[in-house]
Amino acid sequence: MFNKIFNKNKAIKKLSIRDTFWDDFLLLPHHEWIKENKYIIHSFQKLFALISDGQLEKIRHEKIYFLKANALYSCSISLQDKCNIIMVFPDLQRMLQALVPDKGLAILAHELGHILNQHYARSIETLKSQIEADRYVIDLGLGLELQEVLLDYPDSAECRNRLYALGQYLYPENNN
Ligand SMILES: [Zn+2]
Repeated sequence: MFNKIFNKNKAIKKLSIRDTFWDDFLLLPHHEWIKENKYIIHSFQKLFALISDGQLEKIRHEKIYFLKANALYSCSISLQDKCNIIMVFPDLQRMLQALVPDKGLAILAHELGHILNQHYARSIETLKSQIEADRYVIDLGLGLELQEVLLDYPDSAECRNRLYALGQYLYPENNN
């Protein structure tokens, strides 16, 4: 009885974004595949725990969906009808199921960085957008993990530039 009254009061009290975000996230049919694996559930919980309430609000507002797909790692797509899709490919799915999923989280954070910085709506140089998205990863505390990911990528000028920019944020004492 008391419980009922208590719950009623709780319902009247405005719920915070953090209270509802996770339930709403899992309710989306796009995220059915996440629910199917407890390790992947845990990885997403870990990622969202790093993200501020304001940014969670933004993720909800931008309608960001994480889709399971087949190819390499990850990419994000912004659609005209104002929804954003982050494709989660098999290599990334494996990373998210690892005991320490942080490299996978760094990749997801990078894709979120593109969307939250609205790169789809701005004309921005590719390398600049990559570095800005990487900056978001650093802000979430996953910079070292991102560095590991980039070191695993095939060597390219873009990759080297990203590693250089990352190094400047991660080891500012070496800048002078
Ligand atoms: Zn990118």
